[in-house]
Amino acid sequence: MIQSQKQLQSKSPSAEFSGTSPQLTVDLGALVSNFNTLRNAVQQSGSICAGVLKANSYGMGYERVAEALWAEGCKTFFVALVGEGVKLRALFPKATIYVLSPYLNLDADLLREHRLIPCLYDIDGIDLWIAANNTAAPAVLHFETGINRLGLSTQDLEQLLSNRSRLNKLELKLIMSHLSSADEQQSEHNQQQLEAFKRIRNEFPNTPASLANTAGIFLGTEYHFDLVRPGIGLYGHDPHYYENQGSRLKPVATFAAPLAQIKELKAGEAVGYGATKLDRDSTIGVILCGYADGVMRALFKPVNKEGHQVTINSYKAPILGRVSMDMITIDLTTVPKEARTIGSMVEIFGNHSLVENAAAMAGTSAYELFTRVSGRAVRKYD
Ligand SMILES: *Cc1c(COP(=O)(O)O)cnc(C)c1O
Repeated sequence: MIQSQKQLQSKSPSAEFSGTSPQLTVDLGALVSNFNTLRNAVQQSGSICAGVLKANSYGMGYERVAEALWAEGCKTFFVALVGEGVKLRALFPKATIYVLSPYLNLDADLLREHRLIPCLYDIDGIDLWIAANNTAAPAVLHFETGINRLGLSTQDLEQLLSNRSRLNKLELKLIMSHLSSADEQQSEHNQQQLEAFKRIRNEFPNTPASLANTAGIFLGTEYHFDLVRPGIGLYGHDPHYYENQGSRLKPVATFAAPLAQIKELKAGEAVGYGATKLDRDSTIGVILCGYADGVMRALFKPVNKEGHQVTINSYKAPILGRVSMDMITIDLTTVPKEARTIGSMVEIFGNHSLVENAAAMAGTSAYELFTRVSGRAVRKYD
């Protein structure tokens, strides 16, 4: 028997979306709760808890996320790009907005015009920023301590200190660095970077300092300094989830798409590209989201026919068959009939099908799965 879309007709389509779009539902209450968990974790240290909103707030929509954080007293935001800062500034005239990856050759005017504060990571950038400002130029100095991405080198630091003319022209808001391995609690890199950062900090006794991302916050008070920069923790992933086998934070994102068709197939028949052969008689559901929406192809392994477990009406069902651009097929054979209704929203990741499990299967991280959710998915908020 094939169930069909007729069953959908009783549901009126929402004006906001067609009813068949994948949905990313963002639980703003959980987001705020995570912010408070992180803020409380650094309270003893007297550290300020900022929020990292880059990449459209890790795919969750920067407007609503920023609003919720602002209402909770989070007044300092970090973004990666100047363009992200400009959009945020339009909403929050009074926020302190730091830009992590400015490109000073091109960005100086926009930074000034929108009162965005660049995190400077080389001497050329410092000179360009000073030249672009008539008065002391507000800035963060981002120092390299071992991740070897953006950051002022030890030589740059010596140069800045040996002749202080540049430093005198900056209004230093913060010195910062970034940890490479904070998600690995036992990594020796953490302690090494901490020591390197403390040595740098000694040269700037009157400037607030910042080292920790989400994972760094959980490494302990030594890592907190004056301001912390959590991103992923706000969005519900505990970076020590795998090591601790549990989360200290609440899931925020639910990524789901509707069940569009159900079919009964016989053992030996096949599903999807590459014709994955069925080992038994099976009930197969077709879900309207695919890799174009951010469902990674790696969530189904053709070699052993293993698939990520999605959730339909509280029942688990594995992806079975290759992930297509706009569709996936799932195995509903063991899901009771009453739980497999056309139009049901099937959770790809969320409270039941954990993003951590999906990430482990796809050989990636929660960060990548969140930020891969495409623009085609409707963002909803509760
Ligand atoms: C992205 C980023 C963060 C936030 O990291 P999470 O691991 O998401 O908490 C903090 N600092 C810098 C420099 C970053 O690039």
